[in-house]
Amino acid sequence: MTERDIIGIFGKMNSGKSSLMNLLTQQETSIVDSTPGTTADTKITLTEIHGLGPVKLMDTAGFNEQDELGDKKRKKAIAALKECDLVLLVIDPSTFDFETEKLILAEARTLDKQVIVVYNLFRITDRNRIEKVEESLAKLRIYRSIVLCAIDIKFRQPMLETILEHYIPKNLAIDLLPFVEEGEFYILNIPMDEETPPGRYLRPQAMAEEHITRKWAFPVSYRMNLTKARAGDPSELDRWNSFISSFSKKPKAIITDSQAMDIMKDWAPADMALTTFSIMMINYMSRGRLNEFVTGIKALNSLQPGDSVLIAEACNHSRIREDIGTVQIPKLLRKFYPAVIVDFTFGREFIDDLDIKKYKLVIHCGGCMISNQRMAARLRDLKATNIPITNYGIFLSFVQGEQTLDRVIAPWQAR
Ligand code: SF4
Repeated sequence: MTERDIIGIFGKMNSGKSSLMNLLTQQETSIVDSTPGTTADTKITLTEIHGLGPVKLMDTAGFNEQDELGDKKRKKAIAALKECDLVLLVIDPSTFDFETEKLILAEARTLDKQVIVVYNLFRITDRNRIEKVEESLAKLRIYRSIVLCAIDIKFRQPMLETILEHYIPKNLAIDLLPFVEEGEFYILNIPMDEETPPGRYLRPQAMAEEHITRKWAFPVSYRMNLTKARAGDPSELDRWNSFISSFSKKPKAIITDSQAMDIMKDWAPADMALTTFSIMMINYMSRGRLNEFVTGIKALNSLQPGDSVLIAEACNHSRIREDIGTVQIPKLLRKFYPAVIVDFTFGREFIDDLDIKKYKLVIHCGGCMISNQRMAARLRDLKATNIPITNYGIFLSFVQGEQTLDRVIAPWQAR
Protein backbone atom coordinates (compact mmCIF):
# COMPACT_ATOMS: atom_id res chain seq x y z
CA MET A 1 0.00 0.00 0.00
CA THR A 2 1.29 3.47 -0.88
CA GLU A 3 1.64 5.75 2.13
CA ARG A 4 0.49 9.32 1.75
CA ASP A 5 3.21 11.93 1.62
CA ILE A 6 2.59 14.46 4.38
CA ILE A 7 3.13 18.14 3.60
CA GLY A 8 3.02 20.58 6.51
CA ILE A 9 2.60 24.34 6.18
CA PHE A 10 4.43 26.28 8.89
CA GLY A 11 5.27 29.86 9.69
CA LYS A 12 4.42 32.88 11.79
CA MET A 13 0.86 34.00 12.47
CA ASN A 14 -0.63 35.74 9.44
CA SER A 15 2.21 34.88 7.10
CA GLY A 16 -0.34 33.36 4.71
CA LYS A 17 -0.26 29.69 5.67
CA SER A 18 -3.99 29.21 5.29
CA SER A 19 -3.99 31.03 1.94
CA LEU A 20 -1.26 28.64 0.76
CA MET A 21 -3.33 25.68 1.97
CA ASN A 22 -6.32 27.01 0.00
CA LEU A 23 -4.13 27.61 -3.03
CA LEU A 24 -2.97 23.99 -2.95
CA THR A 25 -6.38 22.47 -2.30
CA GLN A 26 -8.23 24.95 -4.54
CA GLN A 27 -10.89 25.31 -1.91
CA GLU A 28 -11.56 27.17 1.33
CA THR A 29 -10.33 24.40 3.62
CA SER A 30 -8.73 26.96 5.90
CA ILE A 31 -10.36 30.13 7.17
CA VAL A 32 -8.39 33.14 6.03
CA ASP A 33 -8.68 36.13 8.31
CA SER A 34 -6.17 38.71 9.48
CA THR A 35 -7.24 38.22 13.10
CA PRO A 36 -4.17 36.78 14.84
CA GLY A 37 -4.31 33.04 15.40
CA THR A 38 -7.20 32.23 13.08
CA THR A 39 -5.85 28.71 12.61
CA ALA A 40 -6.38 27.41 16.15
CA ASP A 41 -5.47 23.84 15.43
CA THR A 42 -3.79 21.85 12.70
CA LYS A 43 -6.17 21.57 9.74
CA ILE A 44 -5.86 18.46 7.66
CA THR A 45 -6.90 17.93 4.04
CA LEU A 46 -6.46 14.70 2.13
CA THR A 47 -5.89 15.35 -1.53
CA GLU A 48 -4.04 14.14 -4.61
CA ILE A 49 -1.20 15.98 -6.30
CA HIS A 50 -0.81 14.96 -9.91
CA GLY A 51 2.67 13.51 -10.34
CA LEU A 52 3.10 12.85 -6.62
CA GLY A 53 0.02 10.87 -5.60
CA PRO A 54 -2.07 10.96 -2.43
CA VAL A 55 -0.97 13.57 0.08
CA LYS A 56 -2.03 14.79 3.47
CA LEU A 57 -1.79 18.56 3.77
CA MET A 58 -1.51 20.10 7.22
CA ASP A 59 -2.11 23.79 7.88
CA THR A 60 -0.64 24.53 11.30
CA ALA A 61 -1.14 27.28 13.85
CA GLY A 62 1.48 30.04 14.11
CA PHE A 63 4.53 29.12 16.15
CA ASN A 64 4.73 32.58 17.64
CA GLU A 65 1.57 33.01 19.68
CA GLN A 66 2.40 34.16 23.17
CA ASP A 67 -0.54 33.30 25.43
CA GLU A 68 -1.27 29.98 27.15
CA LEU A 69 -3.34 28.80 24.19
CA GLY A 70 -0.43 29.79 21.95
CA ASP A 71 1.79 27.36 23.82
CA LYS A 72 -0.65 24.53 23.16
CA LYS A 73 -0.88 25.50 19.49
CA ARG A 74 2.91 25.54 19.21
CA LYS A 75 3.12 22.04 20.69
CA LYS A 76 0.59 20.86 18.13
CA ALA A 77 2.53 22.53 15.34
CA ILE A 78 5.73 20.80 16.51
CA ALA A 79 3.89 17.45 16.58
CA ALA A 80 2.76 18.14 13.00
CA LEU A 81 6.34 18.98 12.02
CA LYS A 82 7.51 15.63 13.39
CA GLU A 83 4.86 13.85 11.36
CA CYS A 84 5.31 15.57 8.01
CA ASP A 85 7.70 14.65 5.18
CA LEU A 86 7.92 18.09 3.59
CA VAL A 87 7.90 21.43 5.41
CA LEU A 88 6.57 24.42 3.49
CA LEU A 89 7.92 27.36 5.49
CA VAL A 90 5.81 30.41 4.68
CA ILE A 91 7.51 33.77 5.20
CA ASP A 92 6.05 37.22 4.85
CA PRO A 93 9.15 39.19 3.81
CA SER A 94 7.66 42.48 4.97
CA THR A 95 8.12 41.41 8.61
CA PHE A 96 11.29 41.95 10.64
CA ASP A 97 11.64 39.36 13.37
CA PHE A 98 12.61 35.88 12.14
CA GLU A 99 12.99 34.04 15.46
CA THR A 100 9.94 31.90 14.62
CA GLU A 101 11.37 30.86 11.26
CA LYS A 102 14.70 30.14 12.95
CA LEU A 103 12.96 27.86 15.44
CA ILE A 104 11.03 26.02 12.71
CA LEU A 105 14.20 25.51 10.65
CA ALA A 106 16.10 24.26 13.70
CA GLU A 107 13.36 21.70 14.41
CA ALA A 108 13.20 20.72 10.73
CA ARG A 109 16.97 20.21 10.58
CA THR A 110 17.04 18.16 13.77
CA LEU A 111 14.34 15.94 12.30
CA ASP A 112 15.97 15.82 8.82
CA LYS A 113 12.87 17.18 7.10
CA GLN A 114 12.84 18.39 3.54
CA VAL A 115 12.04 22.11 3.41
CA ILE A 116 10.82 24.49 0.72
CA VAL A 117 10.74 28.17 1.63
CA VAL A 118 7.66 30.03 0.37
CA TYR A 119 7.99 33.82 0.29
CA ASN A 120 4.43 35.06 0.34
CA LEU A 121 4.07 38.60 -0.96
CA PHE A 122 1.22 40.71 0.36
CA ARG A 123 2.48 43.62 -1.80
CA ILE A 124 4.58 43.26 -4.90
CA THR A 125 7.26 45.57 -3.42
CA ASP A 126 7.83 43.08 -0.56
CA ARG A 127 9.94 41.08 -3.00
CA ASN A 128 12.74 43.61 -2.45
CA ARG A 129 12.93 42.60 1.20
CA ILE A 130 13.79 38.93 0.52
CA GLU A 131 17.53 39.55 0.42
CA LYS A 132 17.36 41.26 3.81
CA VAL A 133 15.37 38.35 5.21
CA GLU A 134 18.06 35.93 4.00
CA GLU A 135 20.76 38.11 5.50
CA SER A 136 18.97 37.88 8.86
CA LEU A 137 18.62 34.12 8.62
CA ALA A 138 21.41 32.74 6.41
CA LYS A 139 20.18 29.13 6.72
CA LEU A 140 17.24 30.04 4.48
CA ARG A 141 19.67 30.11 1.54
CA ILE A 142 20.30 26.39 1.96
CA TYR A 143 16.77 25.57 0.87
CA ARG A 144 14.87 25.83 -2.40
CA SER A 145 12.48 28.73 -2.39
CA ILE A 146 9.60 30.16 -4.36
CA VAL A 147 8.18 33.67 -4.38
CA LEU A 148 4.42 33.93 -4.82
CA CYS A 149 1.21 35.59 -3.76
CA ALA A 150 -0.78 32.85 -2.05
CA ILE A 151 -4.18 34.42 -2.74
CA ASP A 152 -3.54 34.53 -6.48
CA ILE A 153 -4.60 31.29 -8.18
CA LYS A 154 -2.07 31.76 -10.97
CA PHE A 155 0.66 30.74 -8.51
CA ARG A 156 -0.90 27.31 -7.87
CA GLN A 157 0.84 25.61 -10.79
CA PRO A 158 4.31 27.09 -10.04
CA MET A 159 3.91 26.02 -6.40
CA LEU A 160 2.98 22.46 -7.42
CA GLU A 161 5.87 22.34 -9.90
CA THR A 162 8.31 23.48 -7.20
CA ILE A 163 7.12 20.67 -4.94
CA LEU A 164 7.37 18.08 -7.73
CA GLU A 165 10.83 19.26 -8.73
CA HIS A 166 12.42 19.45 -5.29
CA TYR A 167 10.61 17.06 -3.01
CA ILE A 168 11.83 13.44 -2.89
CA PRO A 169 8.72 11.37 -2.15
CA LYS A 170 8.94 8.88 0.67
CA ASN A 171 7.47 6.17 -1.56
CA LEU A 172 10.15 6.53 -4.22
CA ALA A 173 11.12 2.95 -4.91
CA ILE A 174 14.81 2.36 -5.53
CA ASP A 175 15.96 -0.95 -6.89
CA LEU A 176 18.99 -2.07 -4.84
CA LEU A 177 20.58 -3.89 -7.82
CA PRO A 178 18.67 -2.86 -10.96
CA PHE A 179 20.88 -4.90 -13.26
CA VAL A 180 20.07 -8.28 -11.66
CA GLU A 181 18.21 -10.66 -14.00
CA GLU A 182 16.22 -13.74 -13.13
CA GLY A 183 18.08 -17.05 -13.56
CA GLU A 184 21.57 -15.46 -13.62
CA PHE A 185 24.51 -15.93 -11.23
CA TYR A 186 26.06 -13.04 -9.27
CA ILE A 187 29.30 -13.30 -7.31
CA LEU A 188 29.57 -11.56 -3.95
CA ASN A 189 33.24 -11.07 -3.07
CA ILE A 190 33.42 -10.88 0.73
CA PRO A 191 36.99 -10.94 2.09
CA MET A 192 35.90 -11.14 5.81
CA ASP A 193 38.64 -9.28 7.64
CA GLU A 194 39.10 -8.79 11.38
CA GLU A 195 36.28 -6.23 11.46
CA THR A 196 33.73 -8.69 10.08
CA PRO A 197 31.35 -9.59 12.92
CA PRO A 198 30.91 -13.33 13.60
CA GLY A 199 27.62 -14.98 12.73
CA ARG A 200 26.35 -12.60 10.08
CA TYR A 201 27.12 -10.67 6.93
CA LEU A 202 27.46 -6.89 6.99
CA ARG A 203 24.21 -5.14 6.11
CA PRO A 204 25.09 -4.33 2.44
CA GLN A 205 26.23 -7.93 1.87
CA ALA A 206 23.10 -9.39 3.46
CA MET A 207 20.89 -6.97 1.49
CA ALA A 208 22.56 -7.88 -1.82
CA GLU A 209 22.21 -11.61 -1.13
CA GLU A 210 18.53 -11.24 -0.20
CA HIS A 211 17.78 -8.99 -3.17
CA ILE A 212 19.39 -11.30 -5.74
CA THR A 213 17.58 -14.32 -4.27
CA ARG A 214 14.25 -12.43 -4.24
CA LYS A 215 14.69 -11.71 -7.95
CA TRP A 216 14.96 -15.46 -8.65
CA ALA A 217 18.65 -15.12 -9.42
CA PHE A 218 21.58 -16.88 -7.72
CA PRO A 219 24.03 -15.13 -5.34
CA VAL A 220 27.30 -17.02 -4.85
CA SER A 221 29.76 -15.83 -2.19
CA TYR A 222 33.55 -15.99 -2.43
CA ARG A 223 35.80 -15.22 0.51
CA MET A 224 38.88 -13.65 -1.01
CA ASN A 225 42.08 -13.96 1.01
CA LEU A 226 43.27 -10.40 0.47
CA THR A 227 46.53 -10.88 2.37
CA LYS A 228 47.58 -13.74 0.12
CA ALA A 229 46.27 -12.05 -3.03
CA ARG A 230 48.21 -8.86 -2.32
CA ALA A 231 51.34 -10.80 -1.46
CA GLY A 232 51.16 -12.44 -4.89
CA ASP A 233 50.67 -15.91 -3.39
CA PRO A 234 49.76 -18.05 -6.45
CA SER A 235 47.51 -20.32 -4.37
CA GLU A 236 44.94 -17.53 -3.99
CA LEU A 237 44.84 -16.78 -7.72
CA ASP A 238 44.52 -20.53 -8.39
CA ARG A 239 41.63 -20.75 -5.93
CA TRP A 240 39.91 -17.78 -7.61
CA ASN A 241 40.42 -19.17 -11.11
CA SER A 242 39.10 -22.56 -10.10
CA PHE A 243 36.05 -20.87 -8.50
CA ILE A 244 35.34 -18.80 -11.63
CA SER A 245 35.75 -21.76 -13.97
CA SER A 246 33.43 -23.96 -11.88
CA PHE A 247 30.29 -22.26 -13.21
CA SER A 248 28.52 -24.06 -16.07
CA LYS A 249 26.78 -20.73 -16.78
CA LYS A 250 29.00 -17.65 -16.58
CA PRO A 251 28.05 -15.22 -13.75
CA LYS A 252 26.73 -11.89 -14.97
CA ALA A 253 28.46 -9.66 -12.44
CA ILE A 254 30.74 -9.46 -9.42
CA ILE A 255 29.85 -7.27 -6.46
CA THR A 256 32.95 -6.84 -4.38
CA ASP A 257 34.04 -5.31 -1.13
CA SER A 258 35.52 -1.99 -2.31
CA GLN A 259 38.81 -2.58 -0.51
CA ALA A 260 39.51 -5.54 -2.84
CA MET A 261 39.43 -3.35 -5.95
CA ASP A 262 43.24 -3.38 -6.27
CA ILE A 263 42.93 -7.14 -6.90
CA MET A 264 39.55 -7.33 -8.59
CA LYS A 265 40.44 -4.81 -11.29
CA ASP A 266 42.82 -7.47 -12.72
CA TRP A 267 41.15 -10.68 -11.59
CA ALA A 268 37.53 -10.01 -12.59
CA PRO A 269 37.03 -11.53 -16.08
CA ALA A 270 36.64 -8.76 -18.64
CA ASP A 271 33.30 -10.11 -19.81
CA MET A 272 31.71 -9.88 -16.34
CA ALA A 273 30.29 -6.66 -14.93
CA LEU A 274 31.99 -5.40 -11.78
CA THR A 275 30.81 -3.08 -9.04
CA THR A 276 31.08 -2.69 -5.25
CA PHE A 277 28.84 -3.02 -2.21
CA SER A 278 29.66 0.54 -1.22
CA ILE A 279 28.52 1.94 -4.58
CA MET A 280 25.36 -0.17 -4.43
CA MET A 281 24.63 1.14 -0.95
CA ILE A 282 25.25 4.83 -1.57
CA ASN A 283 23.04 4.72 -4.66
CA TYR A 284 20.30 3.09 -2.61
CA MET A 285 20.61 5.33 0.46
CA SER A 286 20.76 8.50 -1.64
CA ARG A 287 17.72 7.31 -3.62
CA GLY A 288 19.45 6.99 -6.93
CA ARG A 289 21.78 10.00 -6.75
CA LEU A 290 24.93 8.04 -7.64
CA ASN A 291 25.83 10.53 -10.36
CA GLU A 292 26.49 13.21 -7.73
CA PHE A 293 29.07 10.94 -6.06
CA VAL A 294 30.66 10.13 -9.41
CA THR A 295 30.89 13.83 -10.27
CA GLY A 296 32.35 14.53 -6.83
CA ILE A 297 35.45 12.39 -7.43
CA LYS A 298 36.64 14.94 -10.01
CA ALA A 299 37.51 17.25 -7.10
CA LEU A 300 40.54 15.01 -6.47
CA ASN A 301 42.10 16.34 -9.66
CA SER A 302 42.21 19.89 -8.31
CA LEU A 303 43.40 19.17 -4.75
CA GLN A 304 46.21 21.48 -3.65
CA PRO A 305 48.72 21.04 -0.81
CA GLY A 306 47.07 22.12 2.44
CA ASP A 307 43.52 21.36 1.23
CA SER A 308 41.31 19.43 3.64
CA VAL A 309 39.36 16.28 2.83
CA LEU A 310 36.70 14.89 5.15
CA ILE A 311 36.16 11.13 5.49
CA ALA A 312 32.62 10.52 6.71
CA GLU A 313 31.34 7.27 8.18
CA ALA A 314 27.71 7.06 9.18
CA CYS A 315 28.23 4.68 12.11
CA ASN A 316 30.60 3.99 14.95
CA HIS A 317 31.55 0.38 14.22
CA SER A 318 34.67 -0.95 15.95
CA ARG A 319 37.76 -0.16 13.91
CA ILE A 320 40.66 -2.58 13.78
CA ARG A 321 44.06 -2.23 12.09
CA GLU A 322 43.42 -2.05 8.31
CA ASP A 323 40.09 -0.24 8.63
CA ILE A 324 39.01 1.23 5.26
CA GLY A 325 37.93 4.68 6.45
CA THR A 326 40.61 5.44 9.02
CA VAL A 327 43.60 3.59 7.55
CA GLN A 328 43.32 2.47 3.93
CA ILE A 329 41.72 5.56 2.35
CA PRO A 330 43.94 8.03 4.31
CA LYS A 331 47.03 6.03 3.22
CA LEU A 332 45.98 6.30 -0.43
CA LEU A 333 45.16 10.00 -0.09
CA ARG A 334 48.58 10.67 1.39
CA LYS A 335 50.24 8.61 -1.34
CA PHE A 336 48.58 10.40 -4.26
CA TYR A 337 48.02 13.84 -2.64
CA PRO A 338 50.87 14.10 -0.11
CA ALA A 339 50.16 17.45 1.54
CA VAL A 340 46.41 17.05 1.90
CA ILE A 341 44.89 17.23 5.40
CA VAL A 342 42.55 14.34 6.24
CA ASP A 343 39.80 14.76 8.85
CA PHE A 344 37.13 12.32 10.01
CA THR A 345 33.54 12.38 11.16
CA PHE A 346 31.74 9.31 12.51
CA GLY A 347 28.19 8.49 13.42
CA ARG A 348 24.70 9.69 12.75
CA GLU A 349 25.39 13.36 13.43
CA PHE A 350 27.01 15.25 10.58
CA ILE A 351 29.38 18.16 10.71
CA ASP A 352 27.59 21.53 10.83
CA ASP A 353 27.07 23.09 7.42
CA LEU A 354 29.06 26.16 8.47
CA ASP A 355 32.13 24.07 9.47
CA ILE A 356 31.92 21.95 6.34
CA LYS A 357 32.99 24.88 4.17
CA LYS A 358 36.70 24.27 4.76
CA TYR A 359 36.61 20.91 2.97
CA LYS A 360 37.40 20.48 -0.71
CA LEU A 361 35.88 17.00 -0.81
CA VAL A 362 33.87 14.64 1.39
CA ILE A 363 34.46 10.90 0.95
CA HIS A 364 31.44 9.07 2.39
CA CYS A 365 30.97 5.41 3.30
CA GLY A 366 27.98 3.44 1.97
CA GLY A 367 25.80 5.05 4.65
CA CYS A 368 23.95 1.83 5.42
CA MET A 369 23.24 2.80 9.04
CA ILE A 370 21.41 6.08 8.48
CA SER A 371 18.01 6.79 7.01
CA ASN A 372 17.38 8.04 3.48
CA GLN A 373 16.21 11.34 5.00
CA ARG A 374 19.44 11.77 6.92
CA MET A 375 21.47 11.04 3.80
CA ALA A 376 19.34 13.52 1.85
CA ALA A 377 19.97 16.14 4.55
CA ARG A 378 23.75 15.62 4.23
CA LEU A 379 23.56 16.00 0.46
CA ARG A 380 21.42 19.11 0.84
CA ASP A 381 23.95 20.80 3.16
CA LEU A 382 26.87 19.88 0.91
CA LYS A 383 25.09 21.10 -2.20
CA ALA A 384 24.20 24.37 -0.52
CA THR A 385 27.85 24.95 0.36
CA ASN A 386 29.16 23.64 -3.00
CA ILE A 387 31.24 20.91 -1.37
CA PRO A 388 31.62 17.87 -3.64
CA ILE A 389 30.95 14.44 -2.20
CA THR A 390 32.12 11.03 -3.35
CA ASN A 391 32.04 7.57 -1.88
CA TYR A 392 34.45 4.88 -0.67
CA GLY A 393 33.70 2.53 -3.59
CA ILE A 394 34.13 5.28 -6.17
CA PHE A 395 37.35 6.53 -4.55
CA LEU A 396 38.90 3.07 -4.24
CA SER A 397 38.07 2.34 -7.89
CA PHE A 398 39.26 5.74 -9.14
CA VAL A 399 42.70 5.33 -7.55
CA GLN A 400 43.05 2.11 -9.57
CA GLY A 401 42.61 4.13 -12.76
CA GLU A 402 39.76 5.86 -14.58
CA GLN A 403 39.03 2.68 -16.56
CA THR A 404 38.31 0.86 -13.32
CA LEU A 405 35.98 3.64 -12.23
CA ASP A 406 34.18 3.52 -15.59
CA ARG A 407 33.79 -0.21 -15.18
CA VAL A 408 32.27 -0.15 -11.68
CA ILE A 409 29.76 2.58 -12.48
CA ALA A 410 28.73 1.07 -15.83
CA PRO A 411 26.13 -1.32 -14.30
CA TRP A 412 24.37 1.76 -12.84
CA GLN A 413 24.46 3.70 -16.08
CA ALA A 414 26.05 6.51 -14.08
CA ARG A 415 28.40 9.07 -15.62
S1 SF4 B 1 27.29 3.13 7.98
FE1 SF4 B 1 29.05 3.26 6.68
S2 SF4 B 1 30.81 2.70 7.96
FE2 SF4 B 1 28.93 2.01 9.01
S3 SF4 B 1 28.69 -0.13 8.31
FE3 SF4 B 1 27.44 1.16 6.94
S4 SF4 B 1 28.79 1.59 5.22
FE4 SF4 B 1 30.10 0.84 6.90
